[in-house]
Amino acid sequence: MKIDPHRDFGCRECPGCATEVAANENHCPICGYAFPHEHPVRRRTIWVIAVLMLLLLWWMFLPG
Ligand SMILES: [Zn+2]
Repeated sequence: MKIDPHRDFGCRECPGCATEVAANENHCPICGYAFPHEHPVRRRTIWVIAVLMLLLLWWMFLPG
């Protein structure tokens, strides 16, 4: 599989200076804004897994 260097990970707008910054960049090259490391979707996934684990535990210890 050929990797195209022009096909990047997309862009996101810098909240500091409204510049389009590559999504794989952690810092804005213009104003130096540091993007938060943790992705909110990943945090939500952890919550979903935690709730599922609790449900599983509840089901395992359910009497009968
Ligand atoms: Zn910026």
